[in-house]
Amino acid sequence: LSATKRRQRAAILSIGDELMAGVHPDLNAPFLAAKLKQLGVVVCELRVIADDEKALAEAMRELCARYDLLLVSGGLGPTLDDVTRHAAAAAAGVAIEHSPEAMDDIREWFMRSGRPMPDSNDRQALLPAGAESLANACGTAPGFRLRIGEAYLCAMPGPPRELQDMFQRKVRPWIGQQWPTAVAPLRAQFHLFGVSESLFADKVGSWMARAKDELLEHEPLMGVTANSGALSVHITAMDSRGERGQRLFEERVVAFRARFQEAIYSEQEANLSLVLANRLIDASITVTTAESCTGGLVAGALTRAAGVSAVLGQAFVTYSDESKTRMLGVPEELISKYGAVSIEVARAMAAGAAERSGARLALAITGIAGPGGGTEEKPVGTVCFASCFDGHLRDGRRQFPNAGRESVRGWATTWALGMGLQAISGLS
Ligand code: ATP
Ligand code: MG
Repeated sequence: LSATKRRQRAAILSIGDELMAGVHPDLNAPFLAAKLKQLGVVVCELRVIADDEKALAEAMRELCARYDLLLVSGGLGPTLDDVTRHAAAAAAGVAIEHSPEAMDDIREWFMRSGRPMPDSNDRQALLPAGAESLANACGTAPGFRLRIGEAYLCAMPGPPRELQDMFQRKVRPWIGQQWPTAVAPLRAQFHLFGVSESLFADKVGSWMARAKDELLEHEPLMGVTANSGALSVHITAMDSRGERGQRLFEERVVAFRARFQEAIYSEQEANLSLVLANRLIDASITVTTAESCTGGLVAGALTRAAGVSAVLGQAFVTYSDESKTRMLGVPEELISKYGAVSIEVARAMAAGAAERSGARLALAITGIAGPGGGTEEKPVGTVCFASCFDGHLRDGRRQFPNAGRESVRGWATTWALGMGLQAISGLS
């Protein structure tokens, strides 16, 4: 394959002592990564380094030798701890010099803001020799673009608002000109419920294998993320411009749909509660919940959807045994015979909630979220579910990992919402 067919590869370097302290999360790398992806540039590496000139110069040299583009954020301020300019000059093996162009930009910024320019701002007009200055419309620190070997380094200020503005105005258009072949990749997404990650791995087979030199291959790339029992899968065409890459992508999408048909609940929206609520609204199916260990989380999730009041009139939080009997009509004997966390009680909760509310669909959850309350027979993480749709009952018992109370409750919520979808669509 010719070099022009190859997709450009990039790294992102976030700079700053404050990022080391674990107090400020790095907001710049995720922003830049998402933007590069849209431009069809492959992001291969993200790094975070303190304001340390030597370490920075070393990293810049290494990353510029490996990739086509290095986007850098932070360390452009006027104080002596801001060393990005000097590090880049060292990495490129050039001197640092005063840039009249950068100086003009800084002067103009102070003029517009009607403030006198402090002397320390001189320092910000120092740029590596040969660097192109990038004007900052939201602050004093100019950015710059510098050739290092075969690669380009683009340095932008650390404050996210300044960085985002500079990227959109100065860097993004330049990338588009520099690499017109970098087009937005073809991408498809699928959101699945009811398949575990390992079952998914079995069924997906070689589709997720990474070719050794994946960037030169036409094979679509597949990625999967798991979130409380739901899976999100992305398929990306590796060569969105080439006919072969497009064809392979389309074939893979059709094949994926066929293979996972019964588990796919959406090809747009990852949020299960929004998908279920909107289906209920569209089909005018009234809904209620009867919740024990989730304490209203399922009902709360459904209320995230605008317009849900058309189908959700009330929901039940029945934490105690007594309330399960009083509010839902669960027979006391059932609870004493099988225990509050049992399929039998979950079924009675669902049936009772449907009956007392008049809703067509009722979702019931009863489980042990922990950390206490587990037994040998029903360890922490045991959750029983039932759905009742037009009088038709379904149930399930899951053993979620004992990964903390919130995890169990999150899994239970997702699972109940998934059961709701299965109930109304007749999925198994
Ligand atoms: P300044 O002129 O403000 O000093 P700078 O380019 O030198 O700009 P830094 O000193 O690295 O930038 O960071 C300034 C502030 O911007 C930080 O204190 C922090 O609040 C914010 N910031 C910097 N980098 C990031 C980042 N990667 N993610 C989120 N916030 C950041
Ligand atoms: Mg600074």
